[in-house]
Amino acid sequence: MQNIIVLGAGIIGLSIAYTLYKAGDSITVIDRDPAGDKVSFGNAGSIAVMEVNPASVPGVFWKVPGWMLNPLGPLSVRPNYSLKLLPWLYRFYLASKEQHALRSHQALVALNTHAYRDMIPMFKDIGVIDALKQKGALVVYESDIGFQQDQNMWALRIKSGIITEYLSGDDARKYEPALGERVKHGMFVPQAGYVTDPKYIVDQLRTWLIKHGVKFIQDEVNSIQKSPNNMSLEGRKTVYTADKVVLATGAWSSCLTKQQGEKCYLESERGYNTTIRNPDIKISREIVFAERKFVITPLTCGLRIGGAAEFGGLNNPPNYKRSDALVKLAQLYFPDLKQTIGTVWSGHRPSTPDSLPVISRSMSCDRLFYAFGHGHLGLTQCAITARLIKEMIFNETSDIDTSMYSIERFN
Ligand SMILES: Cc1cc2nc3c(=O)[nH]c(=O)nc-3n(C[C@H](O)[C@H](O)[C@H](O)COP(=O)(O)OP(=O)(O)OC[C@H]3O[C@@H](n4cnc5c(N)ncnc54)[C@H](O)[C@@H]3O)c2cc1C
Repeated sequence: MQNIIVLGAGIIGLSIAYTLYKAGDSITVIDRDPAGDKVSFGNAGSIAVMEVNPASVPGVFWKVPGWMLNPLGPLSVRPNYSLKLLPWLYRFYLASKEQHALRSHQALVALNTHAYRDMIPMFKDIGVIDALKQKGALVVYESDIGFQQDQNMWALRIKSGIITEYLSGDDARKYEPALGERVKHGMFVPQAGYVTDPKYIVDQLRTWLIKHGVKFIQDEVNSIQKSPNNMSLEGRKTVYTADKVVLATGAWSSCLTKQQGEKCYLESERGYNTTIRNPDIKISREIVFAERKFVITPLTCGLRIGGAAEFGGLNNPPNYKRSDALVKLAQLYFPDLKQTIGTVWSGHRPSTPDSLPVISRSMSCDRLFYAFGHGHLGLTQCAITARLIKEMIFNETSDIDTSMYSIERFN
């Protein structure tokens, strides 16, 4: 039996801890705030299997300045962070070249195709399967041009096995009667789903692990060192040792990889939402508003309206005007949405320039593994990531080519 430390108790770290525990290892999870309000607790809850196109698609780079002119628009950069973002942006530009974007697309397809394979057994085992609603998602458009502009993206999705059904505006309203006349086109994606509350999933997963003897330690780890026979982690409280370490510290991961001499282009892409506890409209599934780049999900804790991509590093304070702006956007589409007061929230998506996570063995140490950088898709890809990390740790052959997720791509 190996002693393995999983550093980070978000959805990625917890899923890995679960999978390695099931494989018979002795697991310790360390997190400075194991039950805290991190990005895994407040996201939109979507199992977004159709999101197989990277953000860095050909031509997108030149749209970025236009988006950035609107500080409450879908994408913004905090002025005091713009210079620091340049290396990441340059990588984003390179990733948007046609061949690179196609490779990223294929690598996302490989992960998302297997999203449910290990998620469903894990959810059944930990007793949350009723919280997974496989009701499909509705992607809606308000303009012909917006719909036309996305046709290449839909063609790639369809080619990669995503099932879609075209809907006129009226057909979309049959699916979701609360939608107003603004909606002109829709695409229904039956394979997508959502969880009724992402916080419930992480809470239940953590509780299950504790009940089964997985040790949780609250501490902040500042360095990871290798020695010939084991690994040591220097926390604020003490030094921890383990046979192997999995680094699953989300948006905070790159300073720990740098210590290993391994560069990683990882940025916080802050997202926002507002959750309205008692909304005056009802929807039945996740709705994606393609042109305005936000989503609405019907969670048990309320109607969650979320989106936005704000690059400002990990230390800038949140700007909750963005949460309010998302509610105003939702009102454009839902004429009966009058109740606008809700709980505002924001979290740091761990984002790479090519939209691919880092699921990888360290280049400098074969006892250290990386699992972070899942951007918009950490919940969707949690179980498949855990499987791939387990296969790497046990030197098992995989049916997925993991070279595209390797940290080597940045070095
Ligand atoms: C608005 C919004 C909506 C989203 N919607 C969706 C969605 O619908 N579907 C989807 O699939 N994904 C969605 N995402 C993305 C998803 O939430 C993330 O990709 C995922 O939660 C990342 O999980 P993680 O475990 O890597 O990171 P985290 O949840 O951030 O966990 C990392 C953990 O590491 C700990 N940590 C960091 N550094 C240290 C250290 N040095 N020592 C100890 N502990 C440390 C932190 O305390 C934290 O608990 C959304 C994100 C946002 C912001």
